[in-house]
Amino acid sequence: MDYRLPDTVVPKRYDLRLEPDLEAATFSGDVTITVDVREPVTEILLNAAELAIQSAAIAPNGGPPVHGSASLDEAAERAGLLFPVAITPGEWRLSLRFTGTLNDKLRGFYRSTYKDGAGAPHTIAATQFEATDARRGFPCWDEPAFKAVFRVSLVVPERLAAVSNSSILKEEILGDGRKTVTFADTIKMSTYLVAFVVGELEATEPVMVGPTPLRVWCAPGKTHLGRFALDIGAFSLDFFERYYGLPYPGDKLDLLAIPDFAAGAMENLGAVTFRETALLVNETAASHTELERIADVVAHEIAHMWFGDLVTMAWWNGIWLNEAFATFMELMAVDTWKPEWKRWVTFGVSRASAMGLDGLRATRPIEFPVMAPRDCEAMFDLLTYEKGASVLRMLEQHVGAEVFRTGVRLYLERHRYGNAETTDLWTSLGDTARLPIPEVMDGWIFRPGYPLVTVESEGTDLTLTQQRFSYLGGEPDPTERWRIPVIVRASVKRGYVERRLLLDGTETAVALPAKPEWIVVNAGGHGFYRVRYAPALLKKLAGAVSKIAPIERFNLLSDCFALSQSGMMTAADYLDLTARFTAETDRNVWTVLTGSLAWTNRVIADAQRPALENLVGRRVEEAASLLGWEPQEGETELDRQLRGDLLRVLGTLGNDGAVQTRAREVYARYREDETSVDANVLPAVIAILAASGGEAEYADFRDRYKRARTPQDEQRFLYALAGFRQPELLRRTLEMTINGEVRSQDAPYLIRSLLMSVYSRGLAWEFVKTNHETMARLYPASAYRRMYEGLPALASPEWERDVHAFFAEHKISLGGKTLEQYLEQLRVAVAFQEREAETLQGYLGRYMKPR
Ligand SMILES: [Zn+2]
Repeated sequence: MDYRLPDTVVPKRYDLRLEPDLEAATFSGDVTITVDVREPVTEILLNAAELAIQSAAIAPNGGPPVHGSASLDEAAERAGLLFPVAITPGEWRLSLRFTGTLNDKLRGFYRSTYKDGAGAPHTIAATQFEATDARRGFPCWDEPAFKAVFRVSLVVPERLAAVSNSSILKEEILGDGRKTVTFADTIKMSTYLVAFVVGELEATEPVMVGPTPLRVWCAPGKTHLGRFALDIGAFSLDFFERYYGLPYPGDKLDLLAIPDFAAGAMENLGAVTFRETALLVNETAASHTELERIADVVAHEIAHMWFGDLVTMAWWNGIWLNEAFATFMELMAVDTWKPEWKRWVTFGVSRASAMGLDGLRATRPIEFPVMAPRDCEAMFDLLTYEKGASVLRMLEQHVGAEVFRTGVRLYLERHRYGNAETTDLWTSLGDTARLPIPEVMDGWIFRPGYPLVTVESEGTDLTLTQQRFSYLGGEPDPTERWRIPVIVRASVKRGYVERRLLLDGTETAVALPAKPEWIVVNAGGHGFYRVRYAPALLKKLAGAVSKIAPIERFNLLSDCFALSQSGMMTAADYLDLTARFTAETDRNVWTVLTGSLAWTNRVIADAQRPALENLVGRRVEEAASLLGWEPQEGETELDRQLRGDLLRVLGTLGNDGAVQTRAREVYARYREDETSVDANVLPAVIAILAASGGEAEYADFRDRYKRARTPQDEQRFLYALAGFRQPELLRRTLEMTINGEVRSQDAPYLIRSLLMSVYSRGLAWEFVKTNHETMARLYPASAYRRMYEGLPALASPEWERDVHAFFAEHKISLGGKTLEQYLEQLRVAVAFQEREAETLQGYLGRYMKPR
């Protein structure tokens, strides 16, 4: 079937009035759509879903209306409006009356509920229209290229606040306890960006950024948690106006925290919606990770106001550019705001996650043809956001930051208030850079996977070869090649030499002026490829890790771990390499190192676990003891976060008794005085107590989860419930995911955590098999899919067979290639287990006894 609406009738303007009834969970509305009829028609097709249309009429300017009949096709999510006479070309006004339901599925026009301090329930009505759910809120041309101006009116009880994309034009009291709030005309924009939120909401005082008032909205009593978001919000708004060279396209900017929210946030122009953890925070009680998340998400959404909202992809195949670019800009803004956070180095973790997915055979190109809009649902993944942002960063570094910015400005200038394709950005960048941008970028955008660059040396000559990287190995296809911007740095007698090249063939030779002491390929760390050094080169580089940059150390470990997962390096060689990093001080390097040990923990036999715990202790304890338990004078925020990270690893994965005892003491102090524990150490202490605690800790955490006063506290104590090790406690946590105790926005992620822990994965898997239908009904579709990310942790041949059998029996669609990807990741884990079982047993045997 054809998924695109015909363009014989095109909307120009919507005058939309909605009356939500929060108690009854319904709404009624009417809309007058000014349309441009381009060819004579007797039927008009537009989108509508889960709506009833009571009347349809169309009138020429100043003329009498023609009444028509409406029929709904729920499967196609369309309404057909039939008129008794032909509607001739020209401007017409189409008027529709309709009713709908405020659903609980966190999409379209939906209900979110929360309890106040006294336990009384309250309801908010909110919208989430991307990708294709505006049609659940009102009949419309629900495709991104049908841009129009919107004037929204909301009829609501007088005591409630109403927010939409633009500022309030007028408020009229109706005399029946309700009021009509009318909002100013929006800019010309796509339907998926329309938003309305109604409820007992409070706003902060506005912060003025030039002419634009910026506010945070939330449930009553929480506005003090909005200050941090206002800070980064005001900074980003100003930063992007300067970077893009265009004023903010809206007339105000509201950031709204919605208690139930399926995604992280949504870039509705002027009315950005967030889940509470992505917006509200008590700055003094939050860890670095929690603050960084909020800074990232706020900057990301504000970047979209131009890139996405002002200039929009023409169709859903372009969603990657929208998201990749906003992610890239988010990093740039946050890096400028807090240089000490070293955001581009931290981004290495995200780049590595994207490479984890993109190294599978079941990966996909960043951009691919999208026929049904539904196909784009699976696009909201690591490849769109993280790989996309990585290749944009690689391109920016290749052409230069100034040239890149000039090209982006040209693109926005050319396409504002309109729609664009990916190639339009390359054209603008190419015009600016005078370089053949599409030729370089096409391989990264339209082809799946990424290259592995192998480096060999002989005397002063280096040879670089490329082939596609694959976790499952197999014969490389020599036709799969990329144009790779490569930077090589070599240490030679009197310092360093650097070589920049575009590796576009299978093999390239690089001549150095002298025989190098060591070399690093992908210097600076921005390239989206992995490096395999010949053994002698690896040995030299491993001996020089203190001399290379943190991001280069990060990539060295990340690449070697991937090589060991794929069988191109032995697990023993990789674990030996990790021993070179005991004095490491960079938090990101530790993240990849401890992450690889956590993965290893899931593939070894239970009997080997004590040995792995000892190995973890020996890798981590030196760095952890240098940091200690208390913040020290002059250290950075990243050091503080690292302290928390390392203590957590020692107390959980390392099962270190002394650390667990100390954590109990620290927590006892916290119960007396909540300010006595550093905000970066507290989340670690909670996780350690879960791993080593029992009934008493469980009851305490569950209680604190329910009484939490900040979104961060709520999340910490909730996820801690997945970190216990006793089956009877874990069963209770599992039960909470379907009995209404945990919000449907969080429950799928709790299940994912339970699937990933070696202590609960078996129970969690049985629970999912039994309850998947209930879960599919309760959880938002996007989060339900993400729940299965935990599957690759079921690393045994028996579980692998069981997982295959389950999905063969139940037709569960996870969208795109998502299921294939999870199954392949599971295969990689089990293949590693089968391949390495014997050597790992020998290797870990050396760690059986604690020192
Ligand atoms: Zn986004």
